[in-house]
Amino acid sequence: MTVQQEKNPIPVPQVEPRAPIPKQNLRIPGPTVVPDEILAEMARPMINHRGPEFAAILRRVTARLQYFFQTRSPVLTYPASGTGGQESAIVNLFSPGDHVVAITIGSFGNRFARIAETYGLQVSRIEFPWGEGADPDVVESRLKTLPPYRGVLVTHNETSTGVTNDIQTLASLIRRHNPDALIAVDAVSSLGCIPLEMDLWDLDVVFTGSQKGWMSPPGVMMIAASERAWQANKSAKLPRFYFDWASSRKKLEAGQHPTTPAVSVFYALDRALELMLEEGREAIFERHRRAGEYVRRRAREMGLELFANPRYASNTVTAVRLPEGFNAKAFMKALREQDGVVLGGGQEHLEGKIFRVGHLGYFREEDLAEAMDKVEQRLRSFGFTGH
Ligand code: PLP
Repeated sequence: MTVQQEKNPIPVPQVEPRAPIPKQNLRIPGPTVVPDEILAEMARPMINHRGPEFAAILRRVTARLQYFFQTRSPVLTYPASGTGGQESAIVNLFSPGDHVVAITIGSFGNRFARIAETYGLQVSRIEFPWGEGADPDVVESRLKTLPPYRGVLVTHNETSTGVTNDIQTLASLIRRHNPDALIAVDAVSSLGCIPLEMDLWDLDVVFTGSQKGWMSPPGVMMIAASERAWQANKSAKLPRFYFDWASSRKKLEAGQHPTTPAVSVFYALDRALELMLEEGREAIFERHRRAGEYVRRRAREMGLELFANPRYASNTVTAVRLPEGFNAKAFMKALREQDGVVLGGGQEHLEGKIFRVGHLGYFREEDLAEAMDKVEQRLRSFGFTGH
């Protein structure tokens, strides 16, 4: 026995036993429901990540991701969450002291800006009230007042408020004003669900992942960079190692992942992309469009007010205002424990004021119908009659 063990032994921890995971109608904006056949993929045996089987998976996954991103640039994959995508964009594009513009409309846009500040960038924020999208006219006039900037950070779909920005319009006005600006787009809760054409819309960096909308397990982040962004990467001085695009690209071209990848996650992603192709890119967009309309209509019919400006309403997540003084916590607890429906709550100052319904990735219409029926019944049992 070592001296330390004698002095301060660490006892076997007394913990709760593992419990079965309940079957739920999981309607949070990520992690989203994963179909059984993808879950089953993750139970396959491990393989050598430097061997031919993994190389084949990586080739398939990369080509199909290029299709869903609509880009000819290589799509790099990292076991990471969405925040990793934000950090990866910052450290690969910029140098200390660079001036960037952050267009923020909610919590995740603010996070993107904070990461840039953490790395010593000068950040000018063009901020909009939560629930609003970025108004292109306001953005344009603000850009004209700012000193020269190297890049623009923007969220495609703001998950905290259920708002989708008009990236195409924003990108074209940014280009007009500053043709060399590096436009980095957080598409964590939208790519594959809401149209976004990376090359066509002339975007420089687009990333997604983190089990928000993809029929994939949590923990894989995918990121693509334009030719302009790859050029910028050569002179970008911020420190980076895990997320270093240049070394990842070199490895990818050799059919390998830069580090030891989460092999099971790649099995799942491989199958998910196959299923997405079977459904079809346009058909998936259409399914999300219908879902957005359906959930918004049901909420309005219940007499509830939608949080997002309808002009920018998201087709992957709907934020719904709760009546003044409503016990949001008890309402969501009853839904979860008694009805098996799990909703997302409000973040930061919206806690207790809104609930969010996720309708992204894999879902069936009846899942949404069941969730909204239960919400309606629960609201009634809590004394809310609408109108
Ligand atoms: N960006 C957006 C738009 C998101 O919705 C999220 C998470 O919900 C993130 C970034 C951060 O992702 P994560 O929490 O998985 O790191």
